[in-house]
Amino acid sequence: MESFLKGLNTAQKAAVTSKASILQVLAPPGSGKTKTLTSRVAYLLAHRGFSPQNVICCTFTIKAAREMRERLRGLVGGDLESKLMLGTFHSICRRYLVTYGHLIGIPNNFGIADSDDSLGIIKRLQKQLKFGMDPRAARNKISHRKARGQTIEKVNKTVSKTAEAQEFADIFRRYEDALATSNLLDYDDLLLRCVELLQRYPACVSNIEALLIDEFQDTNNVQFELMKLLASAKKRITVVGDPDQSIYGFRSAEIENLKRMQEYYPGTVVINLEENYRSSSAVLHLAQDVIEQDTERPSKRLKSTHCYGTLPVLRRLHNPHEEAAWIVSEIKRMTKLTGGCIERSDIAILLRSAFLSLLLEKALANAGIPYKMVGGRRFFDRVEVRIILDYLRTISHPDNSSALLSIINTPARKIGDATVAELNRAAEAAKMSLWTIVQQAVKGEAKLEKKLTKPAEQGLKELVTLIKRGQAKLKVFEPAQAPGQLIELVAKELHFLEYLKKQYQEDWEERWENVKELSLQARDVTLESLTAEDQLPEVDGVKQAKIQGAQEVLSRFLANVALSTEIESGEEGEAKSRITISTIHSAKGLEWPVVFVPAVYEGSIPHSRAEDTNEERRLLYVAMTRAKALLYMTLPVMQSRSESESILSQFLSSGIEHRLKDAGPIFDDKVVQDIATILGRLAPSQESLAKGVTMLEENESQYDDIWPLDGSPRAPSLTTVMEFPFSMLQQGQSLNDAMK
Ligand code: ATP
Ligand code: MG
Repeated sequence: MESFLKGLNTAQKAAVTSKASILQVLAPPGSGKTKTLTSRVAYLLAHRGFSPQNVICCTFTIKAAREMRERLRGLVGGDLESKLMLGTFHSICRRYLVTYGHLIGIPNNFGIADSDDSLGIIKRLQKQLKFGMDPRAARNKISHRKARGQTIEKVNKTVSKTAEAQEFADIFRRYEDALATSNLLDYDDLLLRCVELLQRYPACVSNIEALLIDEFQDTNNVQFELMKLLASAKKRITVVGDPDQSIYGFRSAEIENLKRMQEYYPGTVVINLEENYRSSSAVLHLAQDVIEQDTERPSKRLKSTHCYGTLPVLRRLHNPHEEAAWIVSEIKRMTKLTGGCIERSDIAILLRSAFLSLLLEKALANAGIPYKMVGGRRFFDRVEVRIILDYLRTISHPDNSSALLSIINTPARKIGDATVAELNRAAEAAKMSLWTIVQQAVKGEAKLEKKLTKPAEQGLKELVTLIKRGQAKLKVFEPAQAPGQLIELVAKELHFLEYLKKQYQEDWEERWENVKELSLQARDVTLESLTAEDQLPEVDGVKQAKIQGAQEVLSRFLANVALSTEIESGEEGEAKSRITISTIHSAKGLEWPVVFVPAVYEGSIPHSRAEDTNEERRLLYVAMTRAKALLYMTLPVMQSRSESESILSQFLSSGIEHRLKDAGPIFDDKVVQDIATILGRLAPSQESLAKGVTMLEENESQYDDIWPLDGSPRAPSLTTVMEFPFSMLQQGQSLNDAMK
């Protein structure tokens, strides 16, 4: 027992060991909600005798699931945690649909349409139907409808008679048809169809003894239904969340779900946590002042467990270029002047909008600072990676027309647009998948209005041969190796290296590296998911579909790809020396010693297109509360895109000046000591601090260009800091004080 409870405070312990059937842990950021949830899982397994197959734990991202599994491994040991159903709502639903989807007519070899696939389908529909709606808007609207549990049947019934509504219903219907003929489920389907499955066959979850959910404030209606259904057998649910961090309203999350849950389960016990273990008081005070601008919310005060720390920084720069350059210079300065106390991997740049990363990426690359991107353009979406994956997707689920269409003539094999259009038409007319028609066409059996040209026919033959060879190999490959070996097979047969060299003379090497990286990842991910994601346990009276062997491993690998939002960091050693760039949305639940939030101006945050200002404020709150020790916010005075002057975000413009300063800290040994304490690290020695100063001194000229030389407030003068003899400092005295 000790090991799970060690280091927890009283309220956390109460939550971990609570006997309540329905438990809500509601608490602000950094108060240990996720830690408590993890400990509760460990406690249920080891002390309440729950068997891991009968416990479901929902996290917000695949990465969070992985981290939780790691922590559990440490807490409960053995292989208890490996049998646990631990993942995102989407991955858990996928598991149920693979095993039991046949009961509601879903073939168990379905593929997953990611957002690009969905958009691709809509774009093709637009070509056919010539509708005026923006494809992205149409996709989002469909997704909104589905997230609220509206299936096309319901839309059909309630459709109003306006031309616009009818047009939308038509797009919706055809979109659903396209998914069906391609044997694809989109993200919303994974949830919706699982709800349908569990409503009709509750026996599938008759074994479930406990359900635990992290980040509950961001669940939508369908996920709320899922919660009820997954836990229907024993009605034992623990959720943790924080209404102040609800940031997915734009994707139909319902902040109301916390209250609805209390109404639906009258005996709900609520536990609040109050201590913050993450951030310095300086960061916490600022964050709290910001969130309290929303006067509608119930006020709660958070206690910080850390020292005051250094004031957060709000800095204006001339333009976005200087903004990026300043951030880079600050990163260099702090990694050197803290004598190794702050490393690159301690630093994150959190963005309101993904496009903001462009200049930052460039500035970091110029400065030779490695970074990894989260939640922006994914590794898996890079062109060369995507091509290989689409081959694998076609081999795995040939009826997936989206994947097939994107590779049908890539690399080029003389299959022109006209041929593709004709094949599509024939598929549509026959209500068959494109793959079926292609196979018929190469045998001369397809009903085509225009005969194929010889070269096109030859091209199709090559394609069919390759896909079939891949499928045949799947039967003989060792399952765990299959995805990796298939990637190598496809790359070889396509002469992919030569293709890249020809196509991308500038950076083919890097692209080829990505392909190799993909095959490495295929090996890791596969091994991991094989041990982690066990078969669902048998439950009485429900027949499971069994797909096994390489086919199953491949389809798990592809599902992982489709459901992951982050580029997996490379090798461990390398990951240590990279800073992180992430959208704020994807940074939820995470923490870093140092956080930069650029572009804090009106129109960026709050975003000009955002409907809900309070949600934008919560977004900034989430960003600020990721920081443990140092928080920087920046904005350019001129936005180069519009040449208009930017106005400081309303969330930062009044009443909080005393919580902020305009230049980065002087990293004297008092400040570094504080940072070390907050981070629970050993403070660096005088020698390593002095070494940092020397290193900076040698490069000082670089900084003159970067730090604005105009009248705007300057960062602390490097020379003053460096010339000051550290040895003269008295014990505990800060450099600031000493210089006065
Ligand atoms: P968020 O709302 O941002 O998801 P959270 O409430 O889930 O935050 P955690 O991520 O669980 O918070 O914890 C924040 C940090 O505080 C972690 O580094 C965690 O290890 C630490 N922590 C939590 N509880 C304690 C405790 N009792 N003693 C020491 N450290 C703690
Ligand atoms: Mg958390």
